[in-house]
Amino acid sequence: LTHTDQLLGTAIRRTVLEQSKRAHVGHIGSALSIADLVGAAFTALGRNDPADPDRDRFVLSKGHAALALYAALAEVGLLPRADLDTFCGDASLLGVHPEHMLPGVDFSTGSLGQGLSMATGAALAAVLQGSTRRVYALLSDAECNEGAVWEAAMFAAQHRLGNLTVIVDHNHQQAFGYTKDVLESRELPARWRAFGWDVVEADGHDERAILEILTSPPADRPRVVVAETVFGKGVSYMEREIKWHYLPMSDAEFDQAMSEVGG
Ligand SMILES: [Mg+2]
Repeated sequence: LTHTDQLLGTAIRRTVLEQSKRAHVGHIGSALSIADLVGAAFTALGRNDPADPDRDRFVLSKGHAALALYAALAEVGLLPRADLDTFCGDASLLGVHPEHMLPGVDFSTGSLGQGLSMATGAALAAVLQGSTRRVYALLSDAECNEGAVWEAAMFAAQHRLGNLTVIVDHNHQQAFGYTKDVLESRELPARWRAFGWDVVEADGHDERAILEILTSPPADRPRVVVAETVFGKGVSYMEREIKWHYLPMSDAEFDQAMSEVGG
């Protein structure tokens, strides 16, 4: 498999909209929030052949945004495009949350706050096995409310897992609320820094900038990219609107969304 530096964000958004409409399911805003991050991550995966034990690993900890992951897998050739049309169908491996039976998906996720523990284990395993493979994990901002995230963060810093990069989708929203009203997230960069991580702050919709960060040489400790994002990014009526965590689109909403994301 080869990669170009072509941006994937818009193509991922189109698939998210098309498939959520066809299957009549929600989690659209969460998937649009990470479209550029997932696009950059899958371009950054230098080795992604599922048969190669030294392939780089990607963990979508916020598993409810799985549709963005499936779209990216299709863009890089790990998922047949026709399989996208089975999303949420009977007997399909493409459920609302990702399954590790799917080629290119190493860990089933969706139980929030657990992805970093799995990614940290994968990073430590690479070190113990003398492998140069890298591990990327994408977390939501509100997952950082969970204690298990900080246990894993301490462990990764203790073991100086420079092969581990976390991306935090800082969209300032979580399910039914805004993080400022539930648990304030503005201090996330300082918190990660205090836990011994190399912290980079970035615009989470600048796919090229994110790609550059993800492909930069590993540090002597784990790295976190706190990516500023907009929930529902690309669709005006969804942006920063809580209800689009769950709602499916009407026909008219779908038409407007597709014309707005372009591509
Ligand atoms: Mg969030």
